[in-house]
Amino acid sequence: MTLRPILIHPDPRLKTVADPVDSITDEIRRLADDMLETMYDAPGIGLAAPQIGQMCRLLVMDAAKEEDESARPMVLVNPTVTWTSEARSVYEEGCLSIPEQFAEVERPAEVEVQWLGLDGETHAERFDGLWATCVQHEIDHLDGKLFIDYLKPMKRQMITRKMVKLKRERARG
Ligand SMILES: [Zn+2]
Repeated sequence: MTLRPILIHPDPRLKTVADPVDSITDEIRRLADDMLETMYDAPGIGLAAPQIGQMCRLLVMDAAKEEDESARPMVLVNPTVTWTSEARSVYEEGCLSIPEQFAEVERPAEVEVQWLGLDGETHAERFDGLWATCVQHEIDHLDGKLFIDYLKPMKRQMITRKMVKLKRERARG
């Protein structure tokens, strides 16, 4: 397994709609392994392939946060939201591509998602709580959408300016 560098906003690849995965190959399995390792290392609770510059519809997540909840690494290929609850919830979201910036985002409180597993089977599950927020945030990445796109323009621009500065500092080393 290999840690992959995570792209930092702004980057055109983070604004691009990713392509569906045709079939589960060894390459896809390797990519999923690398993404899980990269996510846990960050640390984060979700990572979408475009965040490491791979423009395919694949995401990994593990939103098991409570102490009594054991780790649950999940790999979702070609995920689609098939149902959303009318009830909404607000979470303070962050993103590995937008380090150290957090903001409240309102989304459906529960969603049903269908995806292709690494086993080649179709899976479906209803997510709530942090899992629901996480899976929606990651699917957004596959559509070139970031959590800051839900914020007011002023706040979004402020965060983007900070990220431009951060990237400049990192480039200088
Ligand atoms: Zn993100």
